[in-house]
Amino acid sequence: MTMFDDLKGKKILVTGSTAGIGLEAAKLLAGAGAKVAIHGSRSPEAAQSVLEQFTSDGEVAYFQADVCSSAECKDLVEAAADYLGGIDVLVNNAGGLGGRNGLESIDDDFFDKVVDLNIRSVVMVTKYAIPFLRRSAEESGETSSVISTGSIAAREGGGPGASLYGGSKAMVHNLHRNWVKEFTKDNIRFNTVAPGTIDTAFHEDKDQGTRDKISGTIAMGRFGTSEEVASAYVYLASHAMSGYVTGQVLDVNGGQMCP
Ligand code: NAD
Repeated sequence: MTMFDDLKGKKILVTGSTAGIGLEAAKLLAGAGAKVAIHGSRSPEAAQSVLEQFTSDGEVAYFQADVCSSAECKDLVEAAADYLGGIDVLVNNAGGLGGRNGLESIDDDFFDKVVDLNIRSVVMVTKYAIPFLRRSAEESGETSSVISTGSIAAREGGGPGASLYGGSKAMVHNLHRNWVKEFTKDNIRFNTVAPGTIDTAFHEDKDQGTRDKISGTIAMGRFGTSEEVASAYVYLASHAMSGYVTGQVLDVNGGQMCP
């Protein structure tokens, strides 16, 4: 088996994989032969068109859950593990801006929405996945892997009205550093992919002028694509490729600088 066959038959849950970065990561993982649980908030009927995009050898099935709810996070992990026959790799990608509000406009509802979507989701999905990841490592003698989607906003603070979003992603980065201390004895690795500015629905509220201004802050002079981020997840999922890599933040941002 070469390094590049390493993901064949691996059992992988990717949250937030009906669109954007998560969808492209799931496609690449399935294309590498993994069995992938696809997840999102849309109905199974509405997800049919997503599943039709998977033409590779890997197997996929769709699971609906609102990851803002701890109970739904638990049900999602259990349903996915049931389908996959365990979990070797967890990708915590579901997340988002949740809207924009300057500090003086932040109320409890907005606070809960952004924090639940970006932090509760990662904490609870990971919590319920740990027994499966631990078992995967025990049985295979290899590491299992958790990969979460952080953000350039975690380092530079986030755009206008995105303080809670940027702060939530900073917490995601830091949670992983703690979990490395708690779970390395169980052979579970934790890494974060921190995208820069990637052309997805995330930026649909921006006009061309704003997009051009942002592009000017990126060394490569343009937004990235979801496909360009997806391979980072494949690398971090694979024990053969990244078995000695844990506690890292992998920036995929075309040279977009942050302080
Ligand atoms: P996207 O909107 O295309 O994808 C978001 C995914 O999350 C979708 O699959 C959606 O179904 C899912 N999701 C959102 N809310 C959910 C909920 N409550 N319950 C279940 N699923 C939910 O956006 P994207 O840009 O691909 O974002 C993916 C991740 O990347 C997010 O965590 C986002 O914060 C992060 N990110 C994006 C960028 C960027 O520039 N696009 C930059 C840094 C980080």
